[in-house]
Amino acid sequence: MNLSGQNFIAGKRRGADATFKARDAETGALLEPPFAAASSQDITDACTAAGKAQAAYANLSLPDRARFLRSCADHIDALGDVLTQRAMAESGLPEARLTGERGRTVGQLRLFADEVEDGAWQALRIDHGDATRTPPAPDLRLRMVPLGPVAVFGASNFPLAFSVGGGDTASALAAGCCVIVKGHPAHPGTSELVAGAITAAAAETDMPEGVFSLLNGPDNALGAALVNDPHIAAVGFTGSRAGGLALMDLAAKRAVPIPVYAEMSSVNPVVLLPERLDEAAEVLASGYVASLALGAGQFCTNPGIVLAIDGPALDRFIAATAAAVADVAGQTMLTASISHAFVRETRHLASLPGARMIGCGKEAADHAARAQVHIVSAGDFIADGAYAREVFGPSSIIVRCQDIAQLQQVLEGMEGQLTATVHMAPADYPEAARLLPVLETRAGRILANGWPTGVAVTHAMNHGGPFPATSDGRSTSVGTLAIGRFLRPVSYQDWPAQLLPPALHDTPTTALRRIDGIWTVG
Ligand code: NAP
Repeated sequence: MNLSGQNFIAGKRRGADATFKARDAETGALLEPPFAAASSQDITDACTAAGKAQAAYANLSLPDRARFLRSCADHIDALGDVLTQRAMAESGLPEARLTGERGRTVGQLRLFADEVEDGAWQALRIDHGDATRTPPAPDLRLRMVPLGPVAVFGASNFPLAFSVGGGDTASALAAGCCVIVKGHPAHPGTSELVAGAITAAAAETDMPEGVFSLLNGPDNALGAALVNDPHIAAVGFTGSRAGGLALMDLAAKRAVPIPVYAEMSSVNPVVLLPERLDEAAEVLASGYVASLALGAGQFCTNPGIVLAIDGPALDRFIAATAAAVADVAGQTMLTASISHAFVRETRHLASLPGARMIGCGKEAADHAARAQVHIVSAGDFIADGAYAREVFGPSSIIVRCQDIAQLQQVLEGMEGQLTATVHMAPADYPEAARLLPVLETRAGRILANGWPTGVAVTHAMNHGGPFPATSDGRSTSVGTLAIGRFLRPVSYQDWPAQLLPPALHDTPTTALRRIDGIWTVG
């Protein structure tokens, strides 16, 4: 594996003073090579290059932009096992998961390429002027334009699909925004390989220099400098609540504040309605534990809270859950600090007076998580917000409610979530219908009879939710709607036809347009 340990600045590798190394997630051993931290000059140069490239990139034809995205996917595919092996070492995630994640990463780049060419995301509108009206109606034509260069923070828990070439990068590039990635310090080798692929794709498809850069650094200083750089127009982030809040604060205090799309913390409540619980307590327990333990619980959609009504069916569910959790082997966590945080947070949870552990996974080695499930009464849960705090890893709480009214009260007291799930039999539909309006106010995706882990990359997916699930519940970070985060509308009033963007001419286009109020193709 040929890694240089350098940053990528506008198509060129740069960086001499190596300052940090990745660690093998399982053994803690340092991995070669050492990586160069971006200097303040590197940060300025990457941002300036993005600022210079922005207009040229934004004005490329849509087929050219799509070609670049497809070429990024092809080059990432071509990395093959080298990428998977390095990502396995740096993240501790198993090969099958990372192979799947690579498929998802290239799949989403190709999906965004198709989306770019489709063109409907431009929200093209034409309202022809009418001089005979009183007052005369102006000729108005609208399209969405890119915000400008986007700073993307690679996420620790998806070294491929939410990192250098992940969803934020794909949607920002699709929107016509140049991208500067702040690599996650836990997987710099993986980041370098993917950045090399994107850089090669940019050269192959004649993209303007500065369309993409990757900067590494071992601490907060790099991220803060990026958010503060005047060329940066928006931020995409997945990580801790503290990190997301810090970036939002920095962005809001800039001379020119910018939007931060941060995905932060969610406990993803799952409701087990009585009839379904009674007919399938054991099946539900097995699905619950599988979802909880998947990827060592390091998913933003991990089912952290289960709500059900007290009774014999819940007792059966608890017994089956305890048995299933006991079979879960220890799993390596992404980083030593995430593993330490998991131990600290689960100890804190266990120390709360109302919490009782009902099941615990097998002994785990250093840096590995031991799955665990606690139970608490709804009364205690409502009285102390500490029970509802996200524990990142394979930990979950069952909340025992007296009746459906108390279950609803628990939901009403919860913060914003990425997902909420209801398990129901047909006889439960009246209760499900009663809960749905509450869930709509709390969550971005509402599942029936499923488990929240696993987020399909499609047109109708929403991976977002009210604060603190994300900083801005009006948008998604997964699926084609994610392109909208990096766009803003511009109206052209009474402009001469020959000076208008071609998509706003009266001549037919392939993209969907709204012409004088009527949706039109052609
Ligand atoms: P993190 O600490 O939030 O860091 C994510 C990225 O943001 C890193 O590149 C980090 O840079 C940067 N960053 C964090 N705080 C910053 C600040 N104040 N100023 C500038 N940059 C900042 O997340 P993590 O390292 O992935 O994991 C830590 C914890 O985050 C986990 O234990 C878990 O609780 C949570 N987490 C949640 C999710 C989720 O999906 N809900 C996903 C991942 C992590 P540096 O490290 O270089 O400073």
